[in-house]
Amino acid sequence: MSIKYIFITGGVVSSLGKGLTAASIGHLLECRGIQIAMLKLDPYLNVDPGTMNPFQHGEVYVTDDGAETDLDLGHYYRYTHSPLSKASNTTTGQIYDTVLKKERRGDYLGNTVQVIPHVTDEIKNRILACAAQAANTQVVLVEIGGTVGDIESLPFLEAIRQFRYERPGDCINIHLTYVPYLKAAGEVKTKPSQHSVQALREIGIVPDMILCRCEKALSDEIKAKISLFCHVAKEAVIDEKDVENSIYEVPIELHRQGLDEKVCKLLGISSPPADLSRWEKMLHTVLHPKGKVVIGIVGKYMDHQDAYKSVFEALHHGAFSAGVEVEIRRFESDRIVENGSVEAAIGGCDGYLVPGGFGERGWEGKVLTAKYCRTKGIPYFGLCLGMQVMIVEFARHVLGLKEAHSTEANPNTPDPVISMLIEQKEIQNLGGTMRLGAYPCRLKPDTLACKAYGKTLIWERHRHRYEFNNEYKAAFEEKGMCFSGTLEHGSLCEISEVVDHPWMLGVQFHPEFKSKPLEPHPLFSDFIQSIVLQKRAKGL
Ligand code: GLN
Repeated sequence: MSIKYIFITGGVVSSLGKGLTAASIGHLLECRGIQIAMLKLDPYLNVDPGTMNPFQHGEVYVTDDGAETDLDLGHYYRYTHSPLSKASNTTTGQIYDTVLKKERRGDYLGNTVQVIPHVTDEIKNRILACAAQAANTQVVLVEIGGTVGDIESLPFLEAIRQFRYERPGDCINIHLTYVPYLKAAGEVKTKPSQHSVQALREIGIVPDMILCRCEKALSDEIKAKISLFCHVAKEAVIDEKDVENSIYEVPIELHRQGLDEKVCKLLGISSPPADLSRWEKMLHTVLHPKGKVVIGIVGKYMDHQDAYKSVFEALHHGAFSAGVEVEIRRFESDRIVENGSVEAAIGGCDGYLVPGGFGERGWEGKVLTAKYCRTKGIPYFGLCLGMQVMIVEFARHVLGLKEAHSTEANPNTPDPVISMLIEQKEIQNLGGTMRLGAYPCRLKPDTLACKAYGKTLIWERHRHRYEFNNEYKAAFEEKGMCFSGTLEHGSLCEISEVVDHPWMLGVQFHPEFKSKPLEPHPLFSDFIQSIVLQKRAKGL
């Protein structure tokens, strides 16, 4: 059978949860035994989100092959088994970069280079390349970023119109829209959805299905109205109301309305019904926790909802595996310094996590957090920059190197315990110059890390420029720091643990990118589990 394609667009407003919806549809198809691949098309001109400020773009999700991608790929990873690589996320910047390079090489043989067909052809090539990642791909889900009606998403929409025209019977369009409830009028309003579908139809795309984001389930009457005005069969109008407790309820809610059955019917796919038993079992644990742990995250983009998306999710997964729920408290590291008292600023949590970060700002509040945890025996988990912070704190207060620092924050420090990878010292451009993607790491037996993973060779994803400076290794070990993970066939320190502490561990990589609700990451599980045990031992 030919490969089938589902195009997912969004209308009315942004932040409707298009990525989560696309991932949920992918999940449901996988539950029917269908092999899927997912692709995110982003309409901005940046080549990748790697150079964007997290305040603007949120988290940068890194794949095994070192692509810096949109955070929606994190949803795809958590909900599905789609291959995820450089072929899974394309931006307008990448498309133009390719087209312009071809033009300079003379590949267009003297032709005028235009949006149609050259840019749209390149977009179509990316869709085919995503499908070609695995030999047995059956369905490709393509999510188009942005909102229908934006100038910048037009070439993508035109490309999918052509793609569909060239493959009749193999493509469907699902449009995600917003149906607001107007309190003053006491009514739900369909007009914004009508307008956004009109905008789609103007470019020649008629949706096959409409998913309506709404606060409460829509009445039959409203669905009939949307059906009539938007030219979509009534049974293909599905509501996606706000979930009450967990984002992992979304696939179940969509399945309840027969979404996967309808998609398969529209695409002419015959498959067994979806088996959601594992997901439902996980959800049962999520909805019936036996206790709670409170984790403080100390970072510098805490006000942005999505800056640490995968970290938040991985903490939830760790909690699922321990059968508890997690309450996350967010702390801006700068405010800890301003407050003067660490206890007053961040006290009261069962454990603390310091996530990744860049630049000079925010360091001191994080160092105070690490000191607070180390001296009080409170569990601490450092991710990437969080490990570097833990090293700097240990150097200053245990080794007595008072001005120890990372050269990223202080290039003139007399004790550069964290410094730049030698081979990268020549960096001139910021884009794509980091140690990126998956590397193997050998674990030392009988360490916290080795016990958590239950094996001695692991692969984890990196995104950083600076590393632990091995000239200080012996001094650290002598004072009670254990380097429990080292780059396989290399000497870079990837994991560090404070030996005389219940749970203080830092990793130079990003374990949060490899955690799923059905396969919680071992370090997040162990972190939460150790807190649960510590609380129980105290009779809490
Ligand atoms: N800024 C640090 C580095 O480049 C840490 C990066 C991170 O936390 N992802 O090494």
